Amino acid sequence: MGKYNLPELQYSYDALEPYIDATTMKIHFSKHHAAYVNNLNNAIAGTELESKSLEELLASAAMLPTAVRNNGGGHFNHSLFWSIMGKNKGGVPSGKLATEINSAFGSFENFKNDFSKTAATRFGSGWAWLLVKNGKLLVSSTPNQDNPLMDVAELKGIPILGLDVWEHAYYLKYQNRRPEYIENFFNVIDWDAVSKRYEKAL
Ligand code: MN
Repeated sequence: MGKYNLPELQYSYDALEPYIDATTMKIHFSKHHAAYVNNLNNAIAGTELESKSLEELLASAAMLPTAVRNNGGGHFNHSLFWSIMGKNKGGVPSGKLATEINSAFGSFENFKNDFSKTAATRFGSGWAWLLVKNGKLLVSSTPNQDNPLMDVAELKGIPILGLDVWEHAYYLKYQNRRPEYIENFFNVIDWDAVSKRYEKAL
């Protein structure tokens, strides 16, 4: 046992079917995410990094050993990813988040197009984000397991929605059809969970 643990998944592996299949969910959560947690624990064990919070580690990513940056990012990113999806979700945001998305992007459709294009064009492995920077909503992407909390990110801020576009996230079901996976992701987004992260980020 180490400092970090897998979070509890708030739904079953088949809850996001048919958009994200149960086999992908099971392997992604219980193998990939578990490996990031184990490798992070091993990388910090017995070092001064053990006493820092995950957010503190990410904020100083430039100075971290590669294993801590990659696996710390992997643990944070996947924990966020599971928390902003759910069964029978999708649709559109409401309340203040909806207002701010309209204000920042012109419309929800514009936001969706911007986010989807950003996710589709991330070369190789990485993530697409909706983030809050100085109270403003922005879309970005990061390579590998980097994220907007890292000092090395091109666009820094607080991520409130993230999409994993590593091939392990979609290849079993979608093979090379990343845009189809991205389109279907919008059917499982839990906008209430994203709204809560938005309120907290402000
Ligand atoms: Mn992943």
